[in-house]
Amino acid sequence: MEGARTRGHPAALGAVAAMIRGGAPHAVLLVGPAGIGKTTLALDLAAGLLCTADDVERRPCGVCRACRLAFAGSHPDLHRIGPEGPGRQVVIGGPGSRVRGVRDLIGELALLPVEGGARVAIVEAAHRMNEDAQAALLKTLEEPPTGVTLILCADAEEPLLPTIRSRCARLRLGPVGTRDIEAILDEQGAADAPLAARLARIAAGRPGLALAWARQPDALRARDELSRSLLDLLAARPAERLAGVRAAAARAGALSVVTEKAAPPDDLPTSSATDADTGPAEDGGPVVRAPAVERRRAAEALIGLWSDVARDLALSSRGLASSVRDLGLLDESNVQAARLDESDIDAFLDRLGRAGVLIVGNVSPELVLDDLALAWPRPRAEAA
Ligand SMILES: [Zn+2]
Repeated sequence: MEGARTRGHPAALGAVAAMIRGGAPHAVLLVGPAGIGKTTLALDLAAGLLCTADDVERRPCGVCRACRLAFAGSHPDLHRIGPEGPGRQVVIGGPGSRVRGVRDLIGELALLPVEGGARVAIVEAAHRMNEDAQAALLKTLEEPPTGVTLILCADAEEPLLPTIRSRCARLRLGPVGTRDIEAILDEQGAADAPLAARLARIAAGRPGLALAWARQPDALRARDELSRSLLDLLAARPAERLAGVRAAAARAGALSVVTEKAAPPDDLPTSSATDADTGPAEDGGPVVRAPAVERRRAAEALIGLWSDVARDLALSSRGLASSVRDLGLLDESNVQAARLDESDIDAFLDRLGRAGVLIVGNVSPELVLDDLALAWPRPRAEAA
């Protein structure tokens, strides 16, 4: 696998190598959080199956024509679909539909291979397939066309029909080590060494997230400022806390730009890297988000950041400062942590977890954030 681009994930890479060597299953399901490296691994498998290097052990070699086309996303026997349209769903599509979807993919797979070898189809964000799309895909999984390998990439497998899951060979991707993430940032020229070291920790095992932060310096700056405001609010009175958190929520939309692009944007067939890099909030299309959707996404982004800040406080308060995620805030975290009760921080972390669930359950984001603002632990000196 000389040309494989995946870093970390030794077990999954081993399984992929075995698939390339011994014939791939009809369907493979790659599961893991956004930005963990599913698309990169899917492309490694695809390139490995399409590669024309004589020595199977070398596939994907990374240098033959097939490999180069596959990695560039333009191999005629590599077909890809992903979420489309305002709802960012993977839809059924097909003739008459303005949006490309599962039926279009099935139509392409019904044709003979252009190069005469294997054919590979990748479904990005398969957890966003709607019911129709899943039903259509299931039929293909039940009677797979010969020589076709279907790769589903999903952040979570629960949204997929059990009948789809049971027909796939499943590979679960866990966190990537910080060294590997630093190497990826370096290889792509995305960040200098000190920034790479910092982003690798902030990304918590997700190289795609580290890349997204590196490509969005404004969002990274907003992240730093918001983290500091949250720490400052520890000492604030209730009215200031409520106002402060509302103000933070208004700015947190800048963060969701990054977290939603955790999958490398240039790997998606639907949005080019240049579009994604220049447009501050657009998803690469003329979609205007409903304010309610935007508020919920901003609240989710703020809760995610708040969790990072609170987790670092919890680590600092236990003397585990070397494990904190954001070294840029280490001094502030240490000072604040010394004045807080460990149990208060732990209780708040639980509350943040529940808050995330409430937001998904459509509870008003403002209500959830107000509750968190008041529950944010108070330093001992002022609590009395
Ligand atoms: Zn090759």
